[in-house]
Amino acid sequence: MTETETTNSPASETSFRDQLGIVSKEGKRKWIYPKKPSGRFHAGRILASWILLAILFVTPFLRFNGHPLMLFDITERKFIVFGLIFGPHDYILFAIAMISTIVFIFLFTVVFGRLFCGWICPQTVFMEMVFRKIDYWIEGNHVRQKQLNDSSWTGNKIFKKLFKHGIYFFLSFLIANMLLAWIIGSEKLLKIISAPPSEHMGGFVAILVFTGVFHWIFGWFREQACILVCPYGRLQGVLLDRNSIVIAYDFIRGEPRGKFRKSEERILGDCIDCHQCVEVCPTGIDIRNGTQLECINCTACIDACDSIMDSVEKPRGLIRYDSIEGIEKKIRSLITPRSIGYSIVLIILISLLTYLVITRSDIDVTILRTGGMFYQEQPDDYISNLYDVKALNKTFESVPLSFKLKNVDGKISVLGDSLIIKTQESVSVKLFIMLKRDQIKSMNTPLQIEVLRSGEITQVVETSFLGPVGGKGIIDEI
Ligand code: SF4
Ligand code: SF4
Repeated sequence: MTETETTNSPASETSFRDQLGIVSKEGKRKWIYPKKPSGRFHAGRILASWILLAILFVTPFLRFNGHPLMLFDITERKFIVFGLIFGPHDYILFAIAMISTIVFIFLFTVVFGRLFCGWICPQTVFMEMVFRKIDYWIEGNHVRQKQLNDSSWTGNKIFKKLFKHGIYFFLSFLIANMLLAWIIGSEKLLKIISAPPSEHMGGFVAILVFTGVFHWIFGWFREQACILVCPYGRLQGVLLDRNSIVIAYDFIRGEPRGKFRKSEERILGDCIDCHQCVEVCPTGIDIRNGTQLECINCTACIDACDSIMDSVEKPRGLIRYDSIEGIEKKIRSLITPRSIGYSIVLIILISLLTYLVITRSDIDVTILRTGGMFYQEQPDDYISNLYDVKALNKTFESVPLSFKLKNVDGKISVLGDSLIIKTQESVSVKLFIMLKRDQIKSMNTPLQIEVLRSGEITQVVETSFLGPVGGKGIIDEI
């Protein structure tokens, strides 16, 4: 028995863990027809879903300083987060951000269980708040849906199925476009949509593939995505403990369960074994058996049970957000050694990430003397050195760069064309510096080179200049 299993009677037997609610005894897919949920939690989730859907569909079109507010262009390895642009060169930031996200997920799950799945996960939001609602609208309640599926093909059934899948396809098409807008940006997406498919074959095919995948997921695969595929769901077994807040049945209060009889004085627990919590469950489980892998914390069973408790005049909350410790010992503590440990690690990571983002420069320039090269004698008593310049542009625009000697008089020039770096690109050029012989006081004269962006100093790079000491160096001696 795992830590999160409860011993609620009469289910101290745990045979339910040997099978999935969505698989029949014969090993076939059991299609779930959940009863339409309603209640205060469901109303709250509808509101949260609308907000989330608005964020998902509107954000790709929001712009900041003429650029997308958010963009996750994995094809061009360009990412914009709240107006800040990141590229492959920011791999350290990515690594820290990824580790921070994982630690945050661990912390959040240890404390609040699968709250994310029920309220924020786009899979749940689209499945339960969009596609499932279309089922109820077109095919009726859960009983009628089952009857329709079990019935033979009639004109009415064909019409309803075609109508439903037509809407599914349209919504899947919208979701595919929305997803693409997050990846390639709204401008490119609008170009793909407005031009003939032959001009953007790649984008057109991507939209069709995504549409097909979403139609398949929401039309057929459904809750299996959460139960069989989602890695986050699989993590629950190791992340949850007895203090984690989950959707839990209060077996202390509810058991022994038994039918409600108005005329008799009740000596049983508060659970009247009405099965309403099971009927509304979109993953086909009985929460009274304890926390299970399949539970996506959708709150439907809380609402269903609360309404039953109202009707039998018992307090609400027989099924509620609570921890096993909370139910067994009435002790609710969000601050545990695990949550403290994760919080400390998370604070350190976020502090480091914030520091790196704040101190990140727009242009990164390194200047190193070219390896294997000595100094060169030049006419008019000049000594020259050759340098390798690597410049990286992290901004949205092309940037012209120039250089100026800061601490000594001399000549400095970029070999080849003038230096213009395109957005998110890095370039390598050679830099030629000449100093008068009398300026050179040692073998290695410290140099400070100002890097100018459109005439403005953006960085001062320190390096050194190799030359003969006091007018006589190794070359002179030879
Ligand atoms: S809805 Fe409540 S009362 Fe009915 S079976 Fe479930 S837990 Fe028991
Ligand atoms: S057990 Fe309750 S919260 Fe969990 S998936 Fe089923 S209805 Fe939703």
